[in-house]
Amino acid sequence: MRKAFEIRISGIVQGVGYRPFVYKTAASMNMSGFVANTGGEVLIHAEGIEEHLDSFIAYLRNNCPEGSRIQSFNVSQVEAKHFIDFKIIKSIQTENASIVIPPDISICEDCLKDISDQNSRFYNYSFTSCTKCGPRFSIISTIPYDRENTSMKNFEMCEDCKKEYENPENRRHHAQTICCSKCGPSFKLFDNNGIEQEEQPFEKTRMLVKQGFIIAVKGIGGFHLICDAKNIDSINKLRERKNRPAKPFAVMIKNINKVREYCCINEEEETILRGREKPIVLLEQKRPSSLSEFINPGLNRLGVMLPYSGIHEQLFDHELDAIVATSGNKSGLPLIINNNKAFEQLKDIADYFLIHNREILNRCDDSIISKNQFIRRARGYAPASIKCSTLSGSSILACGADLKNAFALFKGDTAHLSQYIGELDSLETYEAFKETVEKYKILFDIAPKIIACDMHPDYHTTKFAEKSGQKVVKVQHHYAHIASVIAEHGIKNEIIGVAFDGTGYGDDNTIWGGEFFVASLKDYIRFGHLRQVVLPGGDRAAKEPWRMAGVYLLDSFGPKYTNLRIPAVKELENRSWGTLVKTINSGINAVRTSSAGRLFDAISAILGICFVNTYEGQAAAELEAAADRMQRDFFEYEIPKGEKCVVDYRKTIISIVKEIEAGRSISEIAGKFHNTIAKSITEMCYNTKKETGLNTVALNGGVFQNQLLLEKTTKLLEDEGFKVYTNRIMPCNDGGILLGQIAVANQNIK
Ligand code: ZN
Ligand code: ZN
Ligand code: FE
Repeated sequence: MRKAFEIRISGIVQGVGYRPFVYKTAASMNMSGFVANTGGEVLIHAEGIEEHLDSFIAYLRNNCPEGSRIQSFNVSQVEAKHFIDFKIIKSIQTENASIVIPPDISICEDCLKDISDQNSRFYNYSFTSCTKCGPRFSIISTIPYDRENTSMKNFEMCEDCKKEYENPENRRHHAQTICCSKCGPSFKLFDNNGIEQEEQPFEKTRMLVKQGFIIAVKGIGGFHLICDAKNIDSINKLRERKNRPAKPFAVMIKNINKVREYCCINEEEETILRGREKPIVLLEQKRPSSLSEFINPGLNRLGVMLPYSGIHEQLFDHELDAIVATSGNKSGLPLIINNNKAFEQLKDIADYFLIHNREILNRCDDSIISKNQFIRRARGYAPASIKCSTLSGSSILACGADLKNAFALFKGDTAHLSQYIGELDSLETYEAFKETVEKYKILFDIAPKIIACDMHPDYHTTKFAEKSGQKVVKVQHHYAHIASVIAEHGIKNEIIGVAFDGTGYGDDNTIWGGEFFVASLKDYIRFGHLRQVVLPGGDRAAKEPWRMAGVYLLDSFGPKYTNLRIPAVKELENRSWGTLVKTINSGINAVRTSSAGRLFDAISAILGICFVNTYEGQAAAELEAAADRMQRDFFEYEIPKGEKCVVDYRKTIISIVKEIEAGRSISEIAGKFHNTIAKSITEMCYNTKKETGLNTVALNGGVFQNQLLLEKTTKLLEDEGFKVYTNRIMPCNDGGILLGQIAVANQNIK
């Protein structure tokens, strides 16, 4: 008997070749009817004889094209309309569909073959893509994901492209980004006076890179600044012009074989590096190396990515196999996506501009992954719509934090995570935050009733929430860090939360950052923290680790610290420490902090590794890089019995100074310091377990980007029988607290 079914499928089903996939399946199973995009879903009307229909539905339930992700699959019987064949039809507008926007996808193997095939009409064509690959989010203005809703709308398909687009047997059947050199976007090369260069743009670019020039290249989610990764002068020129003395640059390497030549890479890392998202992966660098040491001074890991589009493929040749590829922006400003802005802002940095005429509608930086931890979620991973099985309720906007900002919109049981926005301390980036929030509200059709934000009174995000006129839920920064882990793993019971972080505003108006909680999404108790010390100069303390060295030396040794025979004391004498001490001793305006990040800064400066940060987290990153990973010993510390558990590292500081005076190696001391922190965290958790019986620990906060610390702490905790959780899909830095904010706000409302 002939029957008809309507099937609605949600998830990542648009922009991934889902309709052509349905079409092919339907054609092979004698179905008639249609498939269409509707809102964020795919709608199928299928008619046929019962057995065929059953196997058709079963096949769709169990199979899907690469890149798609099914969230829901609903089948209902409808009246047969007696279609004679099966068609892909134009999108149908609907309301209330759950919307998922596909992220950008790196170029696929088949398209790569096309661009390297001299006989293909896509030979050397930078914008080659198909239903399996190409930009999505970065070019979308509204849903559904159809060509007229993307920045491809300005490019009318030529006859050849149209034929492929309409041919169900073709890989580019209904590929919204289909285009070729005849009809699609194209590149031009200009010098920094705006004069167009006559030669073939990519050929000339490669030549210029080899000659040592810096080129601004418009890519998928924004501009890169590129130069030869083996040319010390170019790299230093880039550092000088970008006013970025030491912050590591990312490197794009021609292919995986070359990556293996320069870096140690395990199977897991290789899978991530070569995955369809193509993020930057932090890899252990092989030394000595022909790559300049000025790419990542003082560090042993290198941020590596592979070319991820036809554009990037063409930046390499047989001589050029590694280029520095850093974000095209002025430091502190958002990534540039617009040609005019690029000329305006980068003309003193770049010598040449390689630009194209396809608009980038949504800014998306490169994502960064370290081991299996996100440092930054952006291109390829954003937007991401994740189901939170334990949450449901009113729609929420979670603003995130001011540092490493990312936000999220929540509706039903799904959180839509934004891409990394950046540091909101510049007006431009704050504007970008506000714009992107508005865009997401439209794209995902969510009007949030509740705004969740940090408690920090000076955060732009807090003020933004307060001004919104909506109900505001403020969530303490480190509780949000821990709640992020609880929500990500759907943990139902109370747990022990360890937030080791830079700084965040505490419940008691002091600055927190080394906190121990017993927490659930309902509530938390701060049962312990690091011994508080003065935070000299507020925010300046985070930029100038020598200040924290002074504070910890004074705290541990008292006034006699001046007699210590270590380089850090000399350094203090040369700085404005003398006046600072007077203010500290007078006790006026002395903000206090329990920040673990500042403790790592202090140790880095005491060891003479880094006195002044030229980028966020430099002192701590260099301390980790310096540490002897094989070290087993640790220093003494104290956890005095009292009302609240306080970890006191004064003995640690005294031992460290003794070892420096005794001529022990920095590497050994740094290794022992890491062990000490891991051991003290474990002891704190152990004490809590004895009292509460809890044996699950969540580790979170920016300090745990330190892989050595994370590994050691996890190991010790597991040896004590703890189950240890950290963020996997969220960054453990401030880019991850938005999920905690959502989860806590959601509970609060109930
Ligand atoms: Zn492709
Ligand atoms: Zn064409
Ligand atoms: Fe934080």
